[in-house]
Amino acid sequence: MRRVQRVPLDEAARQYLCERQQYARRLLAEDRLRAARFWKDMRETAVFTPVLTALEQMAGPRRRCMYCLDSRGSDVEHFRPKASYPHRMCSWRNLLLCCSDCGRKKGDRFPLDDQGLPLLLDPSADEPWEHLDFDPETGNLTPRFDPTGASSPRGEETVRMLELDQREELALGYQTTYKRLKRELEVALSAGPLDPSALRERLEEADDHGLLPWCLRYGGSTLAPFSTLRQEHPAVWAALSEAV
Ligand SMILES: [Zn+2]
Repeated sequence: MRRVQRVPLDEAARQYLCERQQYARRLLAEDRLRAARFWKDMRETAVFTPVLTALEQMAGPRRRCMYCLDSRGSDVEHFRPKASYPHRMCSWRNLLLCCSDCGRKKGDRFPLDDQGLPLLLDPSADEPWEHLDFDPETGNLTPRFDPTGASSPRGEETVRMLELDQREELALGYQTTYKRLKRELEVALSAGPLDPSALRERLEEADDHGLLPWCLRYGGSTLAPFSTLRQEHPAVWAALSEAV
């Protein structure tokens, strides 16, 4: 998972979503809203296309699922499910792009903590690596533990809901990306003076699974070759860490 930057919607698309949301609220007040049907009709109109385009732009050139980053993001996802949060069904900030596997695993579940805040990580609002860890041995994503030994409740729930530690294909994809990132850095370290911007470009190009922040700023920074970069080229490491 990686943090994705939400892009602004164009004015016509923004107005369309607002108008649909107001209409959905009226239907809801009259107990006439059928959320699944309402959404299906919306998805099939041409006016919806700019919304999809903006989500695809957020998902990057490979259009990966915003939850797993492994499969193609094929479905418009309601972070807060439309069945239980119909008043947010057309809210731009509630929309993401995900693969059918992640969408199916999440379903209509949306657990909250004691304060009523979401436990599932929102890739458009949260830095996932504050709550998740990566295990290079297995390729799994796991909950992150803080220095006191307590695991992140949001990491725990996100891993559980999306089964991020039980998906073989996913684990293989993350391991492949991690190996590529290590190799790119090893080649750069052995090639002589480092060019931070060229190195950043090569690492970002190799980073299909959003692992670079983990490698530079989180658990991966204690493992070679990223620990070597940090210890022997602190200025380059600092510049890269800030940039990713
Ligand atoms: Zn996915």
